[in-house]
Amino acid sequence: MTNFRSKLPNHFDLPRRINRLGELSYNLWWTWTPTAQRLFNRIDNNLWEQVHHNPIKFLRQIERSLLNAAAQDSTYLETYDQVFKDFDDYLARKDTWFARNRPKSKDQIAYFSMEFGLHETLPIYSGGLGVLAGDHLKESSDLGLPLVGLGLLYTEGYFSQHISEDGWQEAINNPLDFSNLPILPVLDENGNELTFQVDFPDGSVTTRIWEVRVGRTPLYLLDTNLDVNPPMVRQLTMRLYWSDINLRVMQEILLGIGGVKAARAMGMHPTVWHMNEGHAAFMTLERARELVQEGKTFAEAIAETKAHNVFTTHTPVPAGNDEFPLWLVDKYLSNLWPQLGLSRDEFVDLARHQQSWGETFSMPVLALKFSEGRNGVSELHGLVSRRMWQELWHAKDTDDVPITHVTNGVHTTTWLARRIRVLYENYFGADWMDYIDDPEMWKKMETIPVHELWAVRNHLKRKMVFYMRERTRERWMKGGYHPIQAIASGVLLDPYVLTIGFARRFATYKRASLALSEFDRLLELINRPNRPVQIIFAGKAHPADEPGKHLIQEVYRKVKKAENGGRIVFLEDYDMNVARYLVQGVDVWMNTPRRPNEASGTSGMKAALNGALNFSVLDGWWREAYNGLNGWAIGPDADLDEGVQDDADAESLYATLENEIIPLYYGERDATDMPVKWLERVKESMRTVTPQFSTRRMVTEYAERLYLPKK
Ligand SMILES: *Cc1c(COP(=O)(O)O)cnc(C)c1O
Repeated sequence: MTNFRSKLPNHFDLPRRINRLGELSYNLWWTWTPTAQRLFNRIDNNLWEQVHHNPIKFLRQIERSLLNAAAQDSTYLETYDQVFKDFDDYLARKDTWFARNRPKSKDQIAYFSMEFGLHETLPIYSGGLGVLAGDHLKESSDLGLPLVGLGLLYTEGYFSQHISEDGWQEAINNPLDFSNLPILPVLDENGNELTFQVDFPDGSVTTRIWEVRVGRTPLYLLDTNLDVNPPMVRQLTMRLYWSDINLRVMQEILLGIGGVKAARAMGMHPTVWHMNEGHAAFMTLERARELVQEGKTFAEAIAETKAHNVFTTHTPVPAGNDEFPLWLVDKYLSNLWPQLGLSRDEFVDLARHQQSWGETFSMPVLALKFSEGRNGVSELHGLVSRRMWQELWHAKDTDDVPITHVTNGVHTTTWLARRIRVLYENYFGADWMDYIDDPEMWKKMETIPVHELWAVRNHLKRKMVFYMRERTRERWMKGGYHPIQAIASGVLLDPYVLTIGFARRFATYKRASLALSEFDRLLELINRPNRPVQIIFAGKAHPADEPGKHLIQEVYRKVKKAENGGRIVFLEDYDMNVARYLVQGVDVWMNTPRRPNEASGTSGMKAALNGALNFSVLDGWWREAYNGLNGWAIGPDADLDEGVQDDADAESLYATLENEIIPLYYGERDATDMPVKWLERVKESMRTVTPQFSTRRMVTEYAERLYLPKK
C-alpha cells in the first residue's frame, strides 16, 4: 500500500476524533466488513437506510450533534478504534496468499470488464457478469494479488425498475451524483485531472479516469462525459449496454483500446491482460498496435501479446456474444488497420464469423484467437464452449479445443449475513476468513448447535419480510401505487412459512415462469393450510429485451391473482441490496435455466452460504455442487430437446416440491418445533458449497492456472 492514484477529498466536516470515517467511506472494504458498517448505522440508522447505505451521502447529511455525540461515546470509540486497526492491518498486510506463493513476482494483472457490481450505491452493473467482476476485485484485494480493474463509469448507471399495475417494466434512468459516489479522479503529477485521447473516426475523444478503492485493489473507470467532447461522444459513457450498435461498438472501442491507453497514461505495464467477456477484446489489437509502432510486424506483435492475454467467456447465449456487421467495422475501425500494417480483408479475418445472415466481426472470436488463456465458467460450460468454438480449431477434436474452465465463485464475506458470520467466528475461530476455501475447516459445521442456526435462519427470514413491508410502505405513501401492487410486493408474506426465492435477470432462457406453468397445481401445493409455501420473484429485463419484459408481465399477472393468497410475490428493482436480503432470507433458492445455457450462475452460491437450500436444474455450478444431500435437482443430468426439457423439468419441479421439500420442512419437527432433518441438509449445503464456490478458490485458480502458471 498504497498504490492509489487519487487524493481523498475534504468535503466532510467531521469531529477530529472520528475524522477517518471520511477515508473509510471511500474504500469499499467497508461493504464486506459488518463492524465498519456499524460505524455508520450506529450513529443514525434511519438516515443510513434513507441514503441507501451510501456512507459518503450519509456523512454529508448527518447532523453535527450526532457526530459530536459519537465522538464522545466510549463504546462507539472502542468500535471505531478496532475497525481502523483492522482496516490499517488489512491494507498493510504483508503475508498475503500472493506474497507467500509468488514471492519474487513483479507481475501485474489488468482485468477488463464492461460492468462491475461492487455495491448498490455504484450501479454500474446489470447482473451476474458485473457482480462476478466486483467479487473478483474484492478477492484480489484479500489475496494481495496485484490486479487492477478497468471499466467504464456510466453517468446514469443501470436503470431502476418500476412495475406498472399491469406488470409492465418501466425503466427509470437516474443521473448519478458523482460527488456522492466512492469515485475519485485520477490526478497527474501536477495534481490536475489526468486525461488522455482515444481516436474515433470523427476525431479524438478526451477521456478522464476515476478511481474506486476496493480494499487494496484499485478499479479505474473511464468517462467521456466532458464539456470538451461533442454530444454524441458524451453519451458514450451514459448507459450500460446501449442497444444502438453505433454506441455499442464505440463503447467497446473505449473499453478495449481506451483501457490500454488509460493503463499507459497511468504508467502501468501489466504482464497479464484479462478480458472478462468479449466486450474488451479490442484490447488485443491496441497492444499489437503499440508493438507495430515500435517496428514489429503484425504477426510478431500479436504473437507476443497473445501470450499475456486471458479471455473468459460467460455465456453460450447469442445476446451475450457481441458481433458487429462489417459496415460498422468499416465505419469505426478503418483508421486502425493501416496502423497494424493490415489490409481491410486481413483485418476482418482476425474475427470473421459466418452467420446464416452474413459475415460479422465477432468479439469472442477475436478474444479466443488472440488469448493464450481461455476459459468457460463451469465444467459443463467449458464443454459447451469447446463445442461451440470448435470451428476455430478445425483440425482438433472437440475435447482438444483449447478452452478450459474455472468455475465461478462468490466473495463470501460480501454475501454472508452478519449473524452467520458471528456463528463462524464463534465456532470456527476468529481467523476463519483465512481458511474460506479449505474444506477441512468447514467440517466444523458439525459443531454449530442446530438451535443457534435455526434461530439465525428465522431472524434472517423475518428481516427480509420486514424489509419488503417497509419498502412497500414507502412506495405506497409516495402515491400512484394500486393496492394490488402492494400485495404483489409482499405485504401478506408470513415470516414463518417455507419461502422459495427466484431472482435474477429476466432472460427467457432462465424460464422464470416454469414454476407457474401448471398454475392450478401450484396453487393447490402452496395453499395447504398447515404447510403453506411462499415464492418471491425479482429481476430486471434489459430495456430492449421485449420477450424478457413479457416474461415479467406473465409472472406479474399470476402474482396479482387473489387465489394465491398473496403468497406469490414480485419484488421490484432487483439490485445487490435486494439480492442480499433474498439470498440471506429465503429457505430455498430455485433456478430453472434451460440447460446448458446457464454457464455458471452465482446467486445460488450466495444463498447456500447463508443456509438456504438450492433447488435447481443441473446446469452450470449446481451440476458440480449437487451431491444428493445438499439440496435438490430439477430434471435429469442430461441434455434434452427444448420442449421435452420444459415438460420434464416442470414435472420434476412440482413432484420434488410436493414429495420432498415441503414434507422435509414441515414434517420432521422435534419437540421445540425445529425441522431437524432440514437443518442437517442446510449444514451439508453450507459445508460443501461455501469453500468450493468461493472467489477464494476461484481467484487462486485463475492465478495459478491462467495468470501466473509456474513454468
Ligand atoms: C448474484 C447476482 C446475480 C447473478 O445471478 P445468477 O442468475 O445466479 O447468475 C444477478 N444480479 C444480482 C444483483 C446479483 O447479486
